[in-house]
Amino acid sequence: MTIVRYAPSPTGRLHLGNARPALLNWLFAQARSGTYVLRFDDTDTIRSTEESARGIEADLAWFGIVPTLKVHQSERTALYDAARDRLIEAGRLYPCYETENELDRKRMRARAQGRPPIYDRAALSLTEDQKRQCEAEGRKPHWRFKLDGKPVHFADLIKGEQTVNTASMSDPVLVREDGSYLYTLPSVVDDIDLGITHVIRGEDHVSNTGTQIEIFEALGGAVPFFAHHNLLTGAEGEGLSKRTGSLSLSELRAEGYEALAVAIVAVLTGTSLPVEPYPDLGSIARKLDLTMISHGPARYDPAELESLNARILHAMPYEVARPRLEPLGLASEPLWLALRENLARFGDIVNLARLVSGPIVPSIAPEDREFIDLARENLPPEPWDQGTWALWTGTLKEKTERKGKALFLPLRLALTGRHDGPELKSLLPLLGRKACLDRLS
Ligand code: GLU
Repeated sequence: MTIVRYAPSPTGRLHLGNARPALLNWLFAQARSGTYVLRFDDTDTIRSTEESARGIEADLAWFGIVPTLKVHQSERTALYDAARDRLIEAGRLYPCYETENELDRKRMRARAQGRPPIYDRAALSLTEDQKRQCEAEGRKPHWRFKLDGKPVHFADLIKGEQTVNTASMSDPVLVREDGSYLYTLPSVVDDIDLGITHVIRGEDHVSNTGTQIEIFEALGGAVPFFAHHNLLTGAEGEGLSKRTGSLSLSELRAEGYEALAVAIVAVLTGTSLPVEPYPDLGSIARKLDLTMISHGPARYDPAELESLNARILHAMPYEVARPRLEPLGLASEPLWLALRENLARFGDIVNLARLVSGPIVPSIAPEDREFIDLARENLPPEPWDQGTWALWTGTLKEKTERKGKALFLPLRLALTGRHDGPELKSLLPLLGRKACLDRLS
């Protein structure tokens, strides 16, 4: 049984970069009929909001992600307290009384002496008297986890064998002075409690994994498999920002991008599966394997999203488009098939449909007037179909010796008022003979 989790902090809406782990976990679970837990890492009660949590759920729902289970860390403090007490009892969690200022000074001294700025574990040698003394001075302890100092090895499902040398790290603070928890401990406690089998997250968490594996073992929990994926970056490898074109998912949605296009770009950039149209997320789930994720950077290119969005629309079957066309009053298969190839965004359909329903302003140059009159006189009788255009222009070609652009463009300008647009062979039967006569006049 596969159980994965996606664990955002509800401190804002999702953007393209955090859509990547959200989707990778979803695809992984889908391919194995597994469970998808949405875990809100909201132990930071000041920055976390219920509104952000609801927004994140809406962002996920836009992709079609419906979590099997939803948990809030803020509601699970009792579990963390119990784990904290066990670690204290096992001698792995120890109280420290240094202030931020004192720690800063220690780090500066270490640097000045050419040592790495690692916490010196001074608090470990405090006697009970000294601790009482600190408390009497009104100091409250924060609590550090005592790292083993042995290299931690794990077989990453994306990056292969990994070693984290915890000897070169400071003992991490797990509990703040006010008793609240930082991310590290609750994450492990929840992974154990919820039976998480696979932790799929960004490669910025690799060194956390070293610490967390030690905590899993200290708590006697089963260590899950880990998979650390490359992070989406801009063209130069820089972090995603508004400037690099990475908008929040809600903004991308408001701009009219297809959820599927955004999902494909978020998840397949920087993998060996091509960024191209797929019918749905399920078909990607069947193809994508974690080993296909590149070890190099995943560079996001806004132009790729733009063109993928268009390609998805150009190939979209009528049955898929119909529920969205109905509220626009445009649910007609011939109309969709004639217009879809000109869409950059789905919403463009509204303006394009006006080419058919009108009103449009025909554009007829004085030097083309005679030709257009001839074209009008030679409009074939109805019924019209996809062959009517070839029949009509074939006749005109013979009668005028016009060909190519000189033949087609004046007709397009007269019938649509535009230089470009949908294929006329598809438009003609939609317009019908009467509308064509009017426009050519
Ligand atoms: N809240 C953490 C983050 O957003 C979760 C990391 C994890 O998946 O363990 O980075």
